[in-house]
Amino acid sequence: MNEGRENPPAVVLLSGGLDSATVLAEARAAGFEPFALSIAYGQRHAVEMEAARRVARSMNVARHVELTIDLRAFGGSALTADVEVPKDRRADATGGDIPITYVPARNTVFLSMALAWAETLGAFDLFIGVNCVDYSGYPDCRPEFIRAFENLANLATKAGVEGTGRFRVHAPILTMTKEQVIRRGLELGVDYGLTHSCYDPTPEGLSCGHCDACRLRLAAFERMGMTDPVAYVRP
Ligand SMILES: [Zn+2]
Repeated sequence: MNEGRENPPAVVLLSGGLDSATVLAEARAAGFEPFALSIAYGQRHAVEMEAARRVARSMNVARHVELTIDLRAFGGSALTADVEVPKDRRADATGGDIPITYVPARNTVFLSMALAWAETLGAFDLFIGVNCVDYSGYPDCRPEFIRAFENLANLATKAGVEGTGRFRVHAPILTMTKEQVIRRGLELGVDYGLTHSCYDPTPEGLSCGHCDACRLRLAAFERMGMTDPVAYVRP
């Protein structure tokens, strides 16, 4: 697998959020040349895409592709349909049941796009910022899912079948807590002020401070004795 290349290419899924920014930095630290893929799939795409662009620029990716796959055509999620994003849920409600912010089959769709680009580039490494600690309810954030997709990648592609390499799906923050993710990212020089996580930002891009995504990152920074550098509607 790209043994001869100094910095083998890798496709990194980049949402512009805290997790994927950290994963991009991990890919670089692991010696890969990152090709960033951002997928706009719902109503938040303008603010998220801005963040993804800032992060990609700050980390000097080889190329940044922005792909629009409008999953609003299907609906079915608070992130793709006109359904209210839950606010101020109790902490113990963020585990267990699959939340309404789950987007049907999202990570399968995303990894499929990353795989298609990787095969085109001659890359065998895909990076995704899934995490099974904070969002235990999402089925496509589990280690079993990552392993299954890796098998699929090797069965489904010309490159996999011809044995020119073996696809690997890297999920470096899979089992990290949000604090561990932030700590690792800071070590790697990630500027979290460039990122965006909120499910329900204002049109100007201010984070709401009350959705699950905001609360998770705010709480993590607070536990670390730090201030989250992104702008919130209310502190
Ligand atoms: Zn929010």
